[in-house]
Order: sequence, then C-alpha cells, then structure tokens
Amino acid sequence: MKIISINAGSSSLKFSLINMEDESVIASGVFERIGIDGSYTIKFNGEKYTENVNLSNHNDAVNILLEKLISLNIVNSLEEIEGVGHRVVQGKDVFDKTVIVDNEVMEKLESIKHFAPLHNPANMLGIEAFQKALPNVPNTVVFDTAFHQTMKPETYLYPVPYEWYEKYGIRKYGAHGTSHRYITETMNQILNTDNFKLISCHIGNGASITAIENGICVDTSMGFTPLAGVMMGTRSGDIDPSLIPPVMESEHKNIDDIINDLNKNSGVLGLSGISSDMRDLETAYENGNERAILTMKKYVRRITDYIAQYYVLLGGATAIAFTAGVGENSPLIRKMVCDNLKCLGVQIDEEKNKVRGKQTCISTDDSKIKVYVIPTDEELMIARDTLNLIKNA
Ligand code: AMP
Repeated sequence: MKIISINAGSSSLKFSLINMEDESVIASGVFERIGIDGSYTIKFNGEKYTENVNLSNHNDAVNILLEKLISLNIVNSLEEIEGVGHRVVQGKDVFDKTVIVDNEVMEKLESIKHFAPLHNPANMLGIEAFQKALPNVPNTVVFDTAFHQTMKPETYLYPVPYEWYEKYGIRKYGAHGTSHRYITETMNQILNTDNFKLISCHIGNGASITAIENGICVDTSMGFTPLAGVMMGTRSGDIDPSLIPPVMESEHKNIDDIINDLNKNSGVLGLSGISSDMRDLETAYENGNERAILTMKKYVRRITDYIAQYYVLLGGATAIAFTAGVGENSPLIRKMVCDNLKCLGVQIDEEKNKVRGKQTCISTDDSKIKVYVIPTDEELMIARDTLNLIKNA
C-alpha cells in the first residue's frame, strides 16, 4: 500500500510517497513558486529530477506531480495510491486527532482558518487539489496542534481576561504535535512501555519543547501561535509584550511590522546579527565571536529553562529526547544543554554524543535521566495515521 504525505504551503507543496509495507520513502520532493512561475524537484531512486514548469495554482502542482509519478515510473498506476495525508498547522480545539476529510471536516477547517491565516488556507488548497485530481482516494488531515489537546485548562489558559478565551479562543494550542507524537511513539518502542515521563525537544529552525506523561502531552512551549516558547532561528520565543509600543513608536512601525520582526528578524538571527542557521553560529562561536557566544548562551539557557520547568511539572523525567535540525545534528548544543542539567543527574557520554541524525542513546549508563537523539519523521507519522484511518474506515 502506498500513501502520499503532503505539506502544502501558500506557494509550495512538499510530498513524500511512502511504501507502508516497510515504511520506506519511495519518492519525495517539492513544488515551489506556485502562483509565481513554478518549479519542481523530485527525488527517486537516487536521482534528482528538477524542472521549471508553469504552476499557476496548487491544482497544477498536484496534476504535474501525479503525471510525473507515472512518467518517471515511480508508480505503474495512480490506483496504487490508496490515501493522501495532509499536514494542517492549526486544528484549534475543534480537532484532537487525525480525521478523514469529508464535507463537515472542510466546513470546520473553513471556520478556523483565520487562526493560522498564513498556513491553514494553503493546507486546504492542497486538500482540494487532491480531491479534484484523485476523487476516489481518501484524504486525511493531521494537525500540528492535535497532540497538545490533552493539556489541562490551568496549562492552556493565559492569565488574561477569561472572556478573551470564551469570545476569541485565546489559549495555548502548541505546535509540532506530529513530531512530538512521533518521538513519543519511538520512545514507546525503545522502552517497550508508554509508562514514562519524557521531555521532547524539537529544536529546528522552529523549536518547541513538550512534557509528556504516559503517552500524552501535559504541556508544551509554543502557545497561541508558534511564536512562543524557546528562542528559535528567527523567532523570539517568549517576550514581554510591553516592549512592543516603544519600538513601534521609535521605529514608526505598525503592529504587523513588529509581529513580522518577532517572527522573522529575531531569535538566533536577531540577537547574533550573523545568521539564523545554527551551523553558521557554531562556526562564529568557535572563532570566538562575542555576539555568537552571547547568542549561544541565550539559546541554550532558554532550552534548559523549559526542560527544568517540565522536569518539575512531571515530577521527574525518564528521558530527554533531542530531535529536528539542531537537536539531531548539533553535538555542541546538546552538550551545552545537558551540562546545564548536571544538577538533575544528567550525564552524557561525549563519544556517543558525536552522533548526527541517527537514533542513539547519548547518556552514560549511570545518568539519572536517559538522553536520546531521535530523528523525527513527520511525513511517516502522517502516513501511519492515514493508513490506520483508511484501514478502519
Ligand atoms: P529544521 O527546521 O528541523 O529543518 O532545522 C533546520 C536547522 O537545523 C537549520 O537552520 C540549522 O540551524 C540546523 N542544522 C542543520 N544541520 C546542522 C548541523 N550539522 N549542525 C548544527 N545545526 C544544524
């Protein structure tokens, strides 16, 4: 059985075609500059196929993708594709799990799309394009927020007027839920039980930390939007909102400009003035660049603060897992974070910590908390959910 995982953005559409017999990726790729001019890159059998094509909308991208699956002999017939799973950024409290798309689901998606105006409408375009192109194939929607729906009100509510929650849905929703759920399931397989306390650190360009107990989310660092929590590549993470008015006034900016600065010009990029990419920061840090050293200290401090907070919330921790671009590939950041956690009995093995992008336990045998590197796989999680739903439909 073959399933396609889709991540549609406003001008891009990423896909992975997965063979569910052995969960291997058959082909993957991205369609870009949709609505501008258009190009695609498809990876298959060790080859990379790239072409500029006219992509006036998401339907064009999906039609060309399906055409290429046939012409490149990736599949013999489109009938081999038995399901399409779509990543959706925001499910609010309307969706607490993956569901098969029907008219009611599309109506609900329509009703919440203004909560993620840059993402949800684009995700919906992807769904509609597949509904048109493959009308007999079920589509599912997998929400970045769904895993976090188990948080309790005292966790997800902000200490602001309660009416804001009642009238406008102002609360913490979290993000990266599909990744944190994948890490939880993998930890479940490693430990052979879901009876554990896990602090899952998804540290990529976007970053979030989640406290998990018995397989469910207890708290997570992102909030009403993915701007909250730890410091990220270009996002500030938590700040005092009172800093906004003086900057608006002094720089003659409006609120959209400031939110844009907090999303795109802050975090590692903003503080260092060097780059948003941790590889560049590490090089500058190793060369003794003062701002890079400051930025790394702040970055690590923010991650450590959340881990410490969640350690107390969970009443201890069985394991800490590092995942995503930085978490999987930066021994330096992992070491700096774990060194800050020594008072909790965290000990990492420096040799084991040299790993990049490979599932490994990097803690010493006598570490009080086990520390893992676990490469995340959101596409596979989406495909697994899709398979489970269509099998039981
Ligand atoms: P993601 O958002 O999960 O794709 O992560 C992307 C980020 O991972 C990049 O912006 C880099 O900051 C970081 N990254 C990727 N490879 C490395 C590496 N070898 N060392 C440090 N950071 C890395």
